[in-house]
Amino acid sequence: MGERVGIDSAADDAAVGGLRENDGGRDSRLIDLSHVIESGRVTYPGLPAPVVCDYLSREASRQHYAEGTEFQIDRIEMVGNTGTYIDAPFHRFADGKDLSELELASVAELPGRVVRVKGRYGRAIPREAFAGVEVRGKAVLVHTGWAEHWGTERYFEGHPFLTEDAALFLRDAGAALVGIDSLNIDDTDDGRRPVHTILLGVGIPIVEHLRGLELLPDEGFRFSAVPVKVRRMGAFPVRAFARIC
Ligand SMILES: [Zn+2]
Repeated sequence: MGERVGIDSAADDAAVGGLRENDGGRDSRLIDLSHVIESGRVTYPGLPAPVVCDYLSREASRQHYAEGTEFQIDRIEMVGNTGTYIDAPFHRFADGKDLSELELASVAELPGRVVRVKGRYGRAIPREAFAGVEVRGKAVLVHTGWAEHWGTERYFEGHPFLTEDAALFLRDAGAALVGIDSLNIDDTDDGRRPVHTILLGVGIPIVEHLRGLELLPDEGFRFSAVPVKVRRMGAFPVRAFARIC
């Protein structure tokens, strides 16, 4: 039942870096926008790291099967806000849609639009960042560059975020989903969490801790971030990806 802890090794860094070069496998139109979840890796300070361990090890399974046949059954203990994850309205609102109620069309194959803010603003990304951008019906992905700090202490302090005013713009302009490659789409110093409140309040899902947005064109792709259907749960990891059209 050993916990598999393997973070911060050179081999793991190479594995993560390898994803960057090998995102779509044999299909170069598929771009992986997700971090790797692994035992012991904290996503968000103050929330526990996931624990990945054996429920049934290969060795222990042998007694159940024919000679030479074995299986592994894994167990993971984690909070929903782990790795690259989606927030459903239920994350913020007791009467909001939970993961099981998210319509597939609201999280899959959405026309995408990247908004690049790296180096253009301070930590607070204002409404002006979206000036002239047609966001209606689109998955709007905010590329801050913060994902480069994933896996380091730096990731947890001083992250970029959207302002309340920017969230109001995205809501009123009809964005279908909003994603960001940062620790939180809100300023974690603002206990009101206005961006979560505004977007989830009208049913716009949020995806946080994206990566790889530098690999995408600004337009001309479809975005998917599909969680499993868990009732009475508001956030869950996703394998977020883009398909270049
Ligand atoms: Zn969130």
